[in-house]
Amino acid sequence: MFFLQIFSAKFKIIPIVIDQINAILPQTQCRQCGFQGCRPYAEAIATGMADINQCPPGGTEGIVELARLLNTSFKPLNLTFGQHKPKSVAFIIEQDCIGCIKCIAACPVDAILGAAKFMHTVIASECTGCELCVAPCPVDCIVMKPLAGQLPYDSVRKYASAKHAKSRYEARCLRKEKESFEKVERAKQKRAELLKQLHKT
Ligand code: SF4
Ligand code: SF4
Ligand code: SF4
Repeated sequence: MFFLQIFSAKFKIIPIVIDQINAILPQTQCRQCGFQGCRPYAEAIATGMADINQCPPGGTEGIVELARLLNTSFKPLNLTFGQHKPKSVAFIIEQDCIGCIKCIAACPVDAILGAAKFMHTVIASECTGCELCVAPCPVDCIVMKPLAGQLPYDSVRKYASAKHAKSRYEARCLRKEKESFEKVERAKQKRAELLKQLHKT
């Protein structure tokens, strides 16, 4: 089995292999593979918990690259995880938007601009086409539109765009982590102040 090759003698996963697998994945962060994003799927492949043919956005080219990296046989995309489709981007029908910010909360790469009670818009160049914003919209005003003028497959362009999406995703994760930490700190501070007030009375 290919995954045995990536364990050290002490059965620790060599992180570089996870990084190499992750670098092949398209970084759409759509979760169609059944994992919470591309890196968790890369980890699952590396540990033999998932097969190499579960990523619809990566399609056949992605599976070929994974099979080559892991020295295993190619297998076609498992369609139970979805179909490979041409790249689409989200589009907001702005006059219908009620400014609920649910799409912003769902977008893994911060590709949506807007504020509570204001019209929202998608930065098309940053949208990975993950479709995660579509379902949460309470007024169904987000539609996916095929990207106009799609160029033929080019691995250099593919890597550059995946790298860019990955850096936006990681920046968002860091921001969310910082926000959660600050929220906990504020709650602690508030509790400490309340206790101080109570002791005074
Ligand atoms: S692009 Fe989607 S399906 Fe493919 S690995 Fe990333 S999260 Fe999973
Ligand atoms: S705008 Fe929608 S489809 Fe585009 S990346 Fe964000 S959540 Fe995904
Ligand atoms: S989820 Fe829909 S209604 Fe809410 S802000 Fe986004 S686009 Fe507007």
